[in-house]
Amino acid sequence: MSRVSEFRDLPKIELHTHLEGSAPPAFIRGLAREKNIDISGIFDAQGNYTFRDFDHFLKVYDAACTTLQSPQDFHRLTLAVLEETASHGVIYMESFLSPDFCGGGDLVAWRDYLAAMEAAAAEGQAKFGITMRGIITAIRHLGPDQSRNTARVAAETAGDFITGFGLAGAEMMGRPGDYTWAFDAAREAGLQLTAHAGEWGGPDMVAETIRDLKVSRIGHGINAINDLALVDQLAENGTVLEVCPGSNVVLQAVTDWNAHPIARLRDRGVKVTVSTDDPPYFLTTMSDEYDALARYFGWGPDDFADLNRTALDAAFCDAKTKAKLATRLEQQ
Ligand SMILES: [Zn+2]
Repeated sequence: MSRVSEFRDLPKIELHTHLEGSAPPAFIRGLAREKNIDISGIFDAQGNYTFRDFDHFLKVYDAACTTLQSPQDFHRLTLAVLEETASHGVIYMESFLSPDFCGGGDLVAWRDYLAAMEAAAAEGQAKFGITMRGIITAIRHLGPDQSRNTARVAAETAGDFITGFGLAGAEMMGRPGDYTWAFDAAREAGLQLTAHAGEWGGPDMVAETIRDLKVSRIGHGINAINDLALVDQLAENGTVLEVCPGSNVVLQAVTDWNAHPIARLRDRGVKVTVSTDDPPYFLTTMSDEYDALARYFGWGPDDFADLNRTALDAAFCDAKTKAKLATRLEQQ
């Protein structure tokens, strides 16, 4: 039996979301109508996003993003996402932001988009009680040259709101070492680091990402399970995995929930956290993720409390913000 409503009010920390990928479909349809853009083909009869596989998912995602054209659009998007996310008990979320989607990677244009998102984050904090931080993310399939530009943009705008640098997009394009320059530059600018790896690639991709990009967190990382020596190394080093089980099931990175390695990774001592990735695309929410973890792996209140403490420890925000959030987690 579903216990989604039971989990809804539980305070949660979420580390792995993509801002554009969190856009409610009704919000994107509204923007499309306003701008006379025909993207009707990306929705099913129920009005949800629809796609066949990971490559098609990236295409549908890009099509939805064509409606997001101005800082004002991103202001509205950020507020809509924060409202929806907060309604599932999330008190802190980190979102991947792409200067490539906001002014084509131009620093001056990006500053306007960023100001709009930051203003929306402040509004979201006041209205919905959710704290947001941004992780500037290079898009792997745009190539290493573009990633250097993204890193420069990230270094210029690092601060209280932009606290991290990441790497997303098609995992099997190139190797992690192609992005070393970008990650070194971001690290020197004081940004904390994460990269998608081991969602589609094998344990070698996870190991190379840690070796070449020196990240503290890995997006997904689930395929590390195929190399137990690597799993033990992750546990020993305290590398945090941003696991998004619902996303993995829908995109068929795993065959089904029963086959998902999150519990095995955790039982072997790896620091796992749980996030929704691109929730409306995968018809999920944080409440749904918790409900599934309870049903498939028998996780209960102590497990979820532990999960949230791990996520808060690994969050890319300052100590003062963490202390405030810890108080809210403990109040539960
Ligand atoms: Zn992701």
